[in-house]
Amino acid sequence: MRQPLIAGNWKMNGSKAEALDLLNGIKAGAGEISKAEIAVCPPFPYLYVAEDVLRGTQIAYGAQDVSRELGGAFTGQVSAAMLKDFGCKYVIVGHSERRQFNGETDPIIGRKYAQAVANGLVPILCVGETLEERELGKTEEVVSAHVDGVLNLSGVEAFTHGVIAYEPVWAIGTGVTATPAQAQEVHAFLRSRIAAKSQDVAAQVRILYGGSMKPDNAMELIGQADIDGGLIGGASLKAADFLAICRAGDANA
Ligand code: PEP
Repeated sequence: MRQPLIAGNWKMNGSKAEALDLLNGIKAGAGEISKAEIAVCPPFPYLYVAEDVLRGTQIAYGAQDVSRELGGAFTGQVSAAMLKDFGCKYVIVGHSERRQFNGETDPIIGRKYAQAVANGLVPILCVGETLEERELGKTEEVVSAHVDGVLNLSGVEAFTHGVIAYEPVWAIGTGVTATPAQAQEVHAFLRSRIAAKSQDVAAQVRILYGGSMKPDNAMELIGQADIDGGLIGGASLKAADFLAICRAGDANA
């Protein structure tokens, strides 16, 4: 069955010293996590710290973004091959903050996803609706468009190499969490959409929930049939909270 994945998205937080502390804190407690997979996504400059601290552990790490280009004259961008070079396993693509603040569209995100897969990384594709879109009854339309950005360019097989994260924008960093039933409904819809193209891919693709997941709601969310773990923002910045969510993932494996 699908191994739960608990991935931390640190966003643009911390310093070198704080990254070191947090990584060591997670490493110290990770021994008790045996079934769920753990991953952390620090800011680019601290990937080398992750590479150093996490060497020889079961904790994977990754980046929060990647260039859609292979390499060359793209000032300020970081290629998938460079992330691979630093030992990254994962990369988040299409986070709502990048859609909102960096103008990323579904075709751009589809290309980032394809670059990640081509370079042996596992992309975590973020999808999710705003509150306004939900209230207008457009949730399924919006998340379908987000998934189609990958399907149109790379086909359904691309999801054998990636992970989807359903992150309702209204739940990110707000302290408001989707109810387990609300989240499960969208997760089941996403899986059915993949299943329409391939039952096998749908059965194996992991779909994470993200949006104010915390130690006290993780168990119930991850316990839903189509929720295969979490993408964790705020709560991934405290080792104790992040590890508590990892234990909820372990209990649901
Ligand atoms: C995120 O940004 O991916 C996220 C889920 O954030 P938070 O957990 O803080 O809502």
